[in-house]
Amino acid sequence: MSESSDAFATAPHSRGEIRFHIAGGVINGVVWIAALVWLVVRWQTVAPRWPWLVLAILAGIYAADLVSGLLHWAFDTWFDEDIAFLRRMVVQVREHHVYPNRIFRYHFLHDAGTLSWLALAVAGPAIFIAIPFDAGAVVLGALVFDILLVGMLSFHKIGHRARQPRWIRVLQKSRLMISAAHHSQHHGGNHDFNYCLINGWADHTLGRAGFFRALEWAIARATGAQPRRNDHEWLARFDYLAVRPEA
Ligand SMILES: [Zn+2]
Ligand SMILES: [Zn+2]
Repeated sequence: MSESSDAFATAPHSRGEIRFHIAGGVINGVVWIAALVWLVVRWQTVAPRWPWLVLAILAGIYAADLVSGLLHWAFDTWFDEDIAFLRRMVVQVREHHVYPNRIFRYHFLHDAGTLSWLALAVAGPAIFIAIPFDAGAVVLGALVFDILLVGMLSFHKIGHRARQPRWIRVLQKSRLMISAAHHSQHHGGNHDFNYCLINGWADHTLGRAGFFRALEWAIARATGAQPRRNDHEWLARFDYLAVRPEA
């Protein structure tokens, strides 16, 4: 018997959470725009040569894809809903493995608010260190990283849509954006594969090379924790292999 889906219910966002989302979006947005203005105004002086320019953009994309995978992996593998300040996110991730299409209920602004803080934590220091050195390539890479990470859960939604506009299909065919074929492999197995949500470049490289398994081995050895224990508990509660109407 499948359990009631009420197990995934979470309290409405509190005023404090909404303020946290807005603050993340505003602060990250201000830093992002300020860095872009600096790059445009100082372009003649700080513009990297074109191979570095291409490399900076590719590095920003790859880093965002990798961090999207690391975040997804961390929630799938280690956390549980008893950790108070992570409960909402853990429940959403567990719900997604049982009812994948419920992600469309979550608004972009709530996703982007939290992700803005994470993007800022990485891109902010890189930008502030790079600007005094006129390191235009680093600022460019950080800007690309930041905006893609903020949009990470929107890319995930794209990876769950069967029908797409033509321009998105072209990007997916070019492997510049995550495809349903790539992401469905995450859902079809033990949830230990294809974690990355932007375009899967890091899945095809570090992921295939055993990066996530190596991290799990090191963490399990250091802490004694068992990877995916909580995910497997939730799946057992929901009779994972039963035919289940999507709700
Ligand atoms: Zn998914
Ligand atoms: Zn997952």
